[in-house]
Amino acid sequence: MILILTPDVDTSSDEYKTLMGYLHELPSIQTRIHEVKGLKQVLTEVYLVGETSSLSLEEMSALPCVERAIRISDEYRILGRHKDELRASHFDYNGVHFGQDNLNVFAGLCAVDNPKNVEAMMKALQENGQTCTRMGAYKPRSSPYSFQGHGKECLPYVFELAGKYGIKVVAMEVTHETHIEEIHQVLEQTGHPTGVMLQIGTRNTQNFELLKSAGREKEFPVLLKRGFGITLEESLNAAEYLASEGNARVIFALRGMKTNMGDPHRNFVDFAQVPVVKRLTRMPVCIDPSHSVGTRDSGPDNILDVMHVTAQGVIAGANMVLVDFHPDPGKALVDGPQALLMKELPYFLEDIQIAREAYEKRLKHTEKFLASVTVN
Ligand code: PEP
Ligand code: MN
Repeated sequence: MILILTPDVDTSSDEYKTLMGYLHELPSIQTRIHEVKGLKQVLTEVYLVGETSSLSLEEMSALPCVERAIRISDEYRILGRHKDELRASHFDYNGVHFGQDNLNVFAGLCAVDNPKNVEAMMKALQENGQTCTRMGAYKPRSSPYSFQGHGKECLPYVFELAGKYGIKVVAMEVTHETHIEEIHQVLEQTGHPTGVMLQIGTRNTQNFELLKSAGREKEFPVLLKRGFGITLEESLNAAEYLASEGNARVIFALRGMKTNMGDPHRNFVDFAQVPVVKRLTRMPVCIDPSHSVGTRDSGPDNILDVMHVTAQGVIAGANMVLVDFHPDPGKALVDGPQALLMKELPYFLEDIQIAREAYEKRLKHTEKFLASVTVN
């Protein structure tokens, strides 16, 4: 059960102490406090764990400082919906809104190679009105002999160039907790020119120690990718690890599943599950067309498969698109074959816009239908 307290509750007040005193007296119940810091207010939620079935929702809602009580299932305690439409399904970070109601594009380099290419990317993004990007500094590779990323060494110029071109959020994969520390240090050294969203890749979806470290993170939100060989439920539970440690600012990314059934795409595209994740949890949902498709192939209509699947995810309500671009894909150190070209950026963004408008039209269409069946 979750008790949602009145916004900005004063934790030194007598009412709050009375509430906590009462909860501590309940037999076989443990309490866990979770604070959700928004731009305007702090929401405090009290999680009651243990023998909660005998507690009445009415009685718990009537306790001092409690705005309402929600009964939750065991699944996805913090990030789940639990049939409560009032809890937030969005957050703001460094001036950018992330929610189940909007769409952000993170186009950028799969792997940072040199300052020239980073600058070309950032400049093109600014020219196209973009404020977010992806930049890989720490690359988990299948072979130990492949390029592993420039690591900490490239962070100063990545962050400075991001600041120079008005980029507010850089999605950056981390594969070890020391990387989070390094990102903090370099942001500090360079004067915080930008913000960072920690990305946990598909190979680390169930790296529980990494999840706990990112979950204890107070500043950075997290983009968690679905594990490529595990069930959706297992991946959503991995997201819950982040939230249970305190960081509920999580975006969940669908990036395709590893099976030859998806051939000739690199992975089996799973974007039909965008609405499923939105229904089960309060997380905004990201799609990664680059790592799903893995090529620049196109059909007889000349539309790239990468763009087709992007549109399919967006028209189903996706909230974020993570996509690889490169100024010279032939020379990219990682994933060149799937990278889009700089000249394709405005065309790609416009194609996304077409799909988003179609989704918004579908929402209105459904509203109209539902209103008509309620009236008749
Ligand atoms: C990436 O986004 O660069 C990446 C390595 O993706 P994934 O974890 O989905 O393979
Ligand atoms: Mn990649």
